[in-house]
Amino acid sequence: MSNIYTYRYSGPAAYHSLVGQIMASLGFVGGHRPAPTGAAVLLREENRRFFLQCTYGNGHTAQHFSATVKGTDIPRQVKRELLHWYDQWQGKTRGPWGILTGVRPTKLVHRLWDQGYSEETIENILQEEYEVAKETARFLVNMARLQRPYVAVQPKRAALYIGIPYCSGHCLYCSFPSRTVTHEPVSRLSRFAEALVKDVEDWAALCAQYDLQVQSIYIGGGTPTCLSVQFLQPLLQVVQQHFSSAGEWTVEAGRPDTATLEKLTLLRRCGVNRISVNPQTMQQSLLDRLGRNHRVEDIYDMYEHCRQLGFPVINMDFIAGLPQQTVVDMEENMKIVCQLQAENVTIHTLALKKSAPLFQHPLRQYIPEAATVEKMLAICRQYLRHNGYIPYYMYRQKYMATNFANIGYARPGTISTYNIEMMEERQTVLAAGPGGATKFLTGPYSLAKLYEPKDIDAYIQALPDKIQERHRMCARIYGGEDT
Ligand code: SF4
Repeated sequence: MSNIYTYRYSGPAAYHSLVGQIMASLGFVGGHRPAPTGAAVLLREENRRFFLQCTYGNGHTAQHFSATVKGTDIPRQVKRELLHWYDQWQGKTRGPWGILTGVRPTKLVHRLWDQGYSEETIENILQEEYEVAKETARFLVNMARLQRPYVAVQPKRAALYIGIPYCSGHCLYCSFPSRTVTHEPVSRLSRFAEALVKDVEDWAALCAQYDLQVQSIYIGGGTPTCLSVQFLQPLLQVVQQHFSSAGEWTVEAGRPDTATLEKLTLLRRCGVNRISVNPQTMQQSLLDRLGRNHRVEDIYDMYEHCRQLGFPVINMDFIAGLPQQTVVDMEENMKIVCQLQAENVTIHTLALKKSAPLFQHPLRQYIPEAATVEKMLAICRQYLRHNGYIPYYMYRQKYMATNFANIGYARPGTISTYNIEMMEERQTVLAAGPGGATKFLTGPYSLAKLYEPKDIDAYIQALPDKIQERHRMCARIYGGEDT
């Protein structure tokens, strides 16, 4: 496992986020972190010409690069230089993603499609201008073709996201700031559940007022099913009451230790038609080391309950690259999921973030090498494709030095439109709950955003103000008011 290095940037503020995104894709973290500097970037503008300098170093060796950046697309030139210099310093060549560093690469394909380019031309542009490998370009175009019917802009169509930031314990690899539900006083859980119901009711009122049609609902977290029935039931009922016309309703029931038969029955009775059973991996020794606190048999039992209750779509998440995980483990996972015939399978690649307990944990040194992870991903592709799954949405991790992507696979007729719409950002997303990010579509490529505080107490306190703010935004966007 390599060390963590920071980057420093000096130059026009307008390029700060671009440089940050490029450095993140190379595995560097922000300059304020307590870690040695691995990259120093300087961008200077003089008489409409840009001079770019960068020093890459690791404490033992360093290499300095400089160039004048010309052309009409300065951001892309800056990106190209910084990535190529890094490769030169590392003695590598660009991987299959070329200079595409964004989290959502299919967005670019859709934009090119919108401009009227043919599939063949888009593949050529990806290869020539973004240095993407031929197979990757073909993969992206195929995926975008599949998504195309779901990305048509319809201003009054929306998805509803409800976030529940509680879990039954914290998994070693996870950077999500969840709270452990069993450590929480009932009074706080009660205040949180009440606030969340108010939050959802308010969205229902706004949808009625402005004729917004919620077509998909996603309750995620955390692990929503770690809430007791006492708190889960009122929330599910309010969603059922106001949003019954949504065709798709997903609930993440990530850990089987939280999904009792009683809760699963409640979910199904209220109308949930997609459920995520997320084993991450199917080896007991790995689950124990990761702090998952349940048995492999619990995953099978939960899956069986979901089938008996008639959930039409079951999704299963797996992670490639867990500490001490082997290629054989991953092959076993794929054999199991294909035997179970889960409708959707999502393959994530471990992205080690500083806020995950694993970052400081001795097991960190046992994270498999990139080449091993690549073998795991190849096995997943092979098994899933052979068993009739198609890759239909993807995203790349922002802070990932390697060339991996997280990919959602589905059996024909079972894709999650919510996942596509979230990734492609072509639809309004109304968010309820701490850390929620509401995105109102204000044009084909523009969004007006509103964020909820991540901290649960801050969320409860800020909710009345946030509700007022969203009403003002809706009046402006849908009511034509100049507020
Ligand atoms: S991986 Fe899922 S269950 Fe584990 S801590 Fe993160 S959000 Fe909670």
